[in-house]
Amino acid sequence: MSFFIDVIIPIPLQKLFTYRITTSEADFIKPGVRVAVPFGKSKIYTGIVYNVHSNGPTAYEAKDIQQILDETPIVNKTQLKLWEWISSYYMCTLGDVMRAALPSAFILESETVITKNIVENFDESILKDDEFLVFEALHHQSTLKIHDISNILDKKNVLPVIKRLIEKEAISVEEEVYEKYKPKLVRYVKLHSNFTSDKALHNLLDELSRAPKQRDVVMTLFSISAKTKKPVKVKDLSEESDVSTSIIKALVDKGVLEEYHIQTDRVEYSGEDTEASKRLNEYQKTALSEIKASFEKHQVTLLHGVTSSGKTEVYVKLIEDVLNEGKQVLYLLPEIALTTQLITRLQNYFGEQVAVFHSKYSVHERVEVWNNVLHNSAKAKIMLGARSSIFLPFNNLGLIIVDEEHEQSFKQFDPAPRYHARDTAVVLAHMHHAKTLLGSATPSLESYFNAKQNKYGFVEITKRYNDVLMPDVELVDIKDKLKKKRMKGHFSDRLIEEMTETLQDGNQIILFQNRRGFSPIVECKTCGHSPQCPNCDVSLTYHQYRNQLRCHYCGYNAAMMQDCEACGSQDLDNKGFGTEQIEEEVKLLFPEHKVARMDLDTTRGKYGYEKIITALEQQEIDILVGTQMLTKGLDFRNVKLVGIMNADNMLNFPDFRAHERSFQLMLQVSGRAGRTQERGKVLIQTYNPHHNILQQVSTNNYIDMFNEQMNDRYNFKYPPVYKQIKITLKHKDYNRVETASIWYSKSLRQVFKEHVLGPESPPIARIRNQFHKNILVKIPKQQSLAKTKEAIIKINNSFLSIKDFRSVRVILNVDNF
Ligand code: ADP
Ligand code: ZN
Ligand code: ZN
Repeated sequence: MSFFIDVIIPIPLQKLFTYRITTSEADFIKPGVRVAVPFGKSKIYTGIVYNVHSNGPTAYEAKDIQQILDETPIVNKTQLKLWEWISSYYMCTLGDVMRAALPSAFILESETVITKNIVENFDESILKDDEFLVFEALHHQSTLKIHDISNILDKKNVLPVIKRLIEKEAISVEEEVYEKYKPKLVRYVKLHSNFTSDKALHNLLDELSRAPKQRDVVMTLFSISAKTKKPVKVKDLSEESDVSTSIIKALVDKGVLEEYHIQTDRVEYSGEDTEASKRLNEYQKTALSEIKASFEKHQVTLLHGVTSSGKTEVYVKLIEDVLNEGKQVLYLLPEIALTTQLITRLQNYFGEQVAVFHSKYSVHERVEVWNNVLHNSAKAKIMLGARSSIFLPFNNLGLIIVDEEHEQSFKQFDPAPRYHARDTAVVLAHMHHAKTLLGSATPSLESYFNAKQNKYGFVEITKRYNDVLMPDVELVDIKDKLKKKRMKGHFSDRLIEEMTETLQDGNQIILFQNRRGFSPIVECKTCGHSPQCPNCDVSLTYHQYRNQLRCHYCGYNAAMMQDCEACGSQDLDNKGFGTEQIEEEVKLLFPEHKVARMDLDTTRGKYGYEKIITALEQQEIDILVGTQMLTKGLDFRNVKLVGIMNADNMLNFPDFRAHERSFQLMLQVSGRAGRTQERGKVLIQTYNPHHNILQQVSTNNYIDMFNEQMNDRYNFKYPPVYKQIKITLKHKDYNRVETASIWYSKSLRQVFKEHVLGPESPPIARIRNQFHKNILVKIPKQQSLAKTKEAIIKINNSFLSIKDFRSVRVILNVDNF
């Protein structure tokens, strides 16, 4: 008898490929094992064995495999089942899922990055047309990946072009080195080594007798280290000796104390003993027992707990139970880099049973975590990770927690699989007969709707821990303030008053500026021209810090010009405002205070994010200006005031979820204010203080928001009432994409009638030289989702068989966000 295997190959092919194996190989090979297989004329791929059988393919002659790469499966049966679900639900291939699911080291193919060689007077005439296209693209972008080049050249097999470019020394190929995930740096102090001898110490203390506060600090340092026998944190020393960190800094400057960092590796916990989990208060206890009761009836339960209600401590109790049953826990977070505080918290309770999985970890680290989960090792009982951690090889999952379940970053945007990690988690848990807990202070309409429909269980905590009051929210009408001339730049008199008072009391301030809606663009005051990105239909954004103009869509950048490109006038104006400009204004308004900024630009570098968080925690920053990043679960003791600079650009964002998101965002930032005994204050500046969302934010009225938004969703047939699939067509030629999208939508309309919208050009119609068209298919609850997708796939296949359309890229996005 002959034996065959079906193999998943990490490329977007609709079908699995069948290879021939020998009888002895058939005894050995199991689904989930990797094999090296030949493909096409000369390619070799790493594939995952899907199944072993004895039915040879009829359409082609099966080739032999090259090599078996694993002795035992690296992917288990449940995972293969999950991959299949993802591929069918999100309308992508198993190859797409495989690529997203496996650490790239398993695919034995480096994440290849291509850069341009810097050569003086490079002779471009030696380049062929396709080579020149790639070379030219590298003028605009410093690096390209293989798939970018496929897009640019509109073909799959681009390796020969790359090879020729390397031979002509036009480009280089390098393996991308992911920056390792950096731990939070805690500052420690010790006595400078000059003073460790008794005599020197004696002299020092004598000398310091004239500076009693400083002497106190040194004495306290001794007593803490004697007591704890551990390194002394600057923060502890400052608290214990009751002096500000500036006095400690003075001692460091004098050379009496020495400051240092200890790097705690978060992949491998190297910490001290674990601590017992906290005793829950009444509300938490009630919530915990309600969750347990709800799990008896529901596989999924939504926990709606206001910010700072102590949801994490409730999760911890649930985790303890699951661990006691010997099962694994998956703790999903929107964004690992933004949650260092939580990682530390969980490690304090669970020690090295906590493992963190992050796509930005080095390849090696990811493989290690993968293997720990696969072998159910004691080192990976609790997996903490962002969306891609749903792909880990769990074999005994008991609980999935989706923290901040409303966060949109759980949905993968690009490339396929365009999956939603929260929804996939529910399916994954189901496959393991495990429970899923969704937690949020501002649940997504989707989840709350599911709870209301009794599809999910529902539990609430309405009180903050320790009865800390919800912050006092005040709406400031900037239209009125402008009329009365009570604005200084972007700051109203009310905001300045509150800021002054907060700073006088020694408390901290967070200022929130949503950059997404409105970033500074340059406009000529004479002719109105504003510089555009050459590759995309957007204005370039001005970055003062580097004196550059940048495109936020493709990364194109250029030096800021002195005069207008169009008319030569030197009268150029920065319109709009971003975090950078707010920071500048704050510095002018409060020159004595320390201001810092947290956004993509300031957190990109080494330790960028950690530095800012640490500085804020240690009160080296008085005022922090930031974007959405600020909303993610941070817990700052001394932040008393939160200012939202402009609520309108969030509310007016052209998206049906804009209102829901604005509510979530504002409530989450507000949650940063006053987490201790004192009541926090939130000021929201707006042109439209009567906007319902702002009223709902200021009264913390989730239910009103929910009901009103759901009304709109019913009326306009949006999710969660209707499901929807977004189809995006892209091509570099506008006419081609237009004809194609009209053909596509016509065919859809024949089946789905009025439930097809578009084609429409999105607000930014061209990105990276590709014109976009969107078509939306709305799917009523009673219509079969599976049948709908079948019909779409059929249309898609006919579309792809039309010669003129073959070069048009089609992107299917199910449950688009
Ligand atoms: P949430 O996740 O709901 O915003 P957290 O779990 O972060 O709230 O809790 C807010 C703060 O209250 C944290 O600093 C936490 O340590 C503290 N806290 C919560 N529950 C308890 C408890 N039972 N005992 C002591 N401290 C608690
Ligand atoms: Zn001009
Ligand atoms: Zn661009």
